Amino acid sequence: MRDFSQDHRWLSINTATVRQQHGVDWPLLDILDACAARGIRAVSPWRDQVAAAGLQATARKLQDHGIELSGYCRGGMFTYTDAARRQASRDDNKRALDEACTLNAPCLVLVVGGLPGALAGRAAHRDIQGAREQVTEGIAALLEDARERHMLLAIEPLHPMYAADRACINTMAQALDVCDALDPDRTGALGLAVDLYHVWWDPTLAEQITRAGTARLLAFHVCDWLTPTTHLLEDRGMMGDGVIDIPRIRALVEAQGFAGYSEVEIFSRSNWWQRDGGQVLDTCVERHRSCV
Ligand code: ZN
Repeated sequence: MRDFSQDHRWLSINTATVRQQHGVDWPLLDILDACAARGIRAVSPWRDQVAAAGLQATARKLQDHGIELSGYCRGGMFTYTDAARRQASRDDNKRALDEACTLNAPCLVLVVGGLPGALAGRAAHRDIQGAREQVTEGIAALLEDARERHMLLAIEPLHPMYAADRACINTMAQALDVCDALDPDRTGALGLAVDLYHVWWDPTLAEQITRAGTARLLAFHVCDWLTPTTHLLEDRGMMGDGVIDIPRIRALVEAQGFAGYSEVEIFSRSNWWQRDGGQVLDTCVERHRSCV
């Protein structure tokens, strides 16, 4: 297992971690400057942040600083109620792929969607199995577009508490079943983003990491699970402040050959988003060395 204690060359910052300090959006280009000033070599930005900064301006800034991406957030949201929405999802995912290519991302991260309408507050139906079938169909179609562009797709299984509104793929096993169905030859075109916040509790985690193997371990997201957790989405903890045995799980993915970035992804409205962004980045560097 790599020694992270001496430097932070394998630290990546998911830019949602510092997206809105004290309630004010921290512009992506400024985040990139602050990362560069700290020797942070990689980030994973969100599409809305890139759109606000400008795609070309973001690409130039990344190049100027020599910062690379550990992923691009995000595509997905494949479930639909009618043909028009299905087409809209497909078109939007193609745009996400093109952006990911422009930014030289290693993969497009997929949050697959839940029951259509649920995220807006009113689910169109209760057929989660049907939603899962739409997701598999959506990924299959997107995989063709992704292969044309030589862009990898990373399915991110989300904790079951998000099954209704954000992602009906909730375990590593489910995500790997989709990979096995759509990419049986394990070409590496389709794999997983393993976010510890979502999968740390899974009793079959070690087994699924082995099953994924290096071909399907495309991204590794870290934060911590706080006790108590006070918000379903925006109360993630800084590494070391919660109950996830991060080094143990990192050892498992590295034993499979994963040698990429450890991407810090923390949504924290009442704590880390209320601090100075530079201080948050400094803490990420320190905890990356001591707790990851
Ligand atoms: Zn994640």
